[in-house]
Amino acid sequence: MREKEFAKDLIDYAYKGASSFHAVKTSVDILEKEGFKELKLTDKWDIKQGGKYFVTKNSSALVAFEINSDKVDEEGFRIIASHSDAPCFRIKPNPEMVSEKVYLKLNTEVYGGPILSTWMDRPLAIAGRVAVKSDNILKPKEVLVNINKPLCIIPNLAIHMNRNVNSGVELNKQVDMVPLVSIVNENLEKDGLLLKEISKEISIPCGDILDFDLFLYEYEKGCLVGLDEEFISSARLDNLAMAHSSLYALINSNNSKGINIFVMFDNEEIGSSTKQGADSNMLKNILERITISLNKTREEFFTSIYNSFIISADMAHPVHPNRGEKHDPTNRPVINKGPVIKINANQKYTSDSYSISVYEAICKEAGVPCQKFVNRSDQAGGSTIGPISSTHLDINSVDIGTSILAMHSVRELGGVNDHYYAYKSFLKFYGI
Ligand SMILES: [Zn+2]
Repeated sequence: MREKEFAKDLIDYAYKGASSFHAVKTSVDILEKEGFKELKLTDKWDIKQGGKYFVTKNSSALVAFEINSDKVDEEGFRIIASHSDAPCFRIKPNPEMVSEKVYLKLNTEVYGGPILSTWMDRPLAIAGRVAVKSDNILKPKEVLVNINKPLCIIPNLAIHMNRNVNSGVELNKQVDMVPLVSIVNENLEKDGLLLKEISKEISIPCGDILDFDLFLYEYEKGCLVGLDEEFISSARLDNLAMAHSSLYALINSNNSKGINIFVMFDNEEIGSSTKQGADSNMLKNILERITISLNKTREEFFTSIYNSFIISADMAHPVHPNRGEKHDPTNRPVINKGPVIKINANQKYTSDSYSISVYEAICKEAGVPCQKFVNRSDQAGGSTIGPISSTHLDINSVDIGTSILAMHSVRELGGVNDHYYAYKSFLKFYGI
């Protein structure tokens, strides 16, 4: 069954995408296999009609595109935007800490907004990027590292010492969330233990490792769940599910009009305001460079922009089976009943009647059901890349996403059919 195969492929993709760097690397591997060519931001571009290209930024954001025709000034860009990062724990510098003279722990800080308690009592592995010495001090070499072993764990406090644990207990990020990594004997040198482990993993001497961006991730892989395997239980569904479905839609689309763009920003979970985030000119600059390389004028760049459309694809909230009262009384999306259009009066989402009609029409043509989400009026809710991206690129945009339960848990829960529906709607969009 295609839906289940596609969902299993997502589980693999999300597992390989253990950090934003790995999410980009996993996507790049897929694109290269499909004949997409890499462009460098530092080189001059020479792109051709019919060409398929990709470019990375900071190794943690990715833009891939296909030049269907050279009339982008009339036919525009069709853009689907997602993000590569997920809430997690980042390892601090000098991370080794010892308690009781024997417990070796790793000092971490929280990245984004995870549900902290879900990270406890689960084997955790480490992945990210290491900066390595090169001949040019301004350009250190980057090496990705994924220590895919159950290396550490954050143990809960026993209920006997924490009688209120089931009525809600505050977790202190510096006290309760520090992972245990080993038992050391007193004579053992604790300093640099992590560095030694990294050095072993990437076969580069400790002395050549300059710095690192390392994160914890859940060691166990996701799986399909349910009587009929109708659910997807996995880490990082937010937002690798949207990245996965839009990536395959880009690859499998067949169009002779305009330019199809896949973009995966980094740092959505911490507000997007980084050079590789949606609150930068990264995408705008890349779109302009594409038009320059196709010998278009700046005026034609602007007509390209205003003939374009963005689907900002991030996850949505279905009605919770145990907590229905938390949701809007009349807009009640559920899992496996189609992608969800996200709407907010204060424009925390970009959707408006114009862009909603466009996405609804796309779904209709694709034979995909779709639903609507609005927060309960007394709940603040979240935001996403759409509104932030719109402050740099004033293109018509809709915010949509498949719905997942337990958003920002170490294990989120989505629907097998929804994932395929999203893919079908993206495929239709890229084919218009
Ligand atoms: Zn997200």
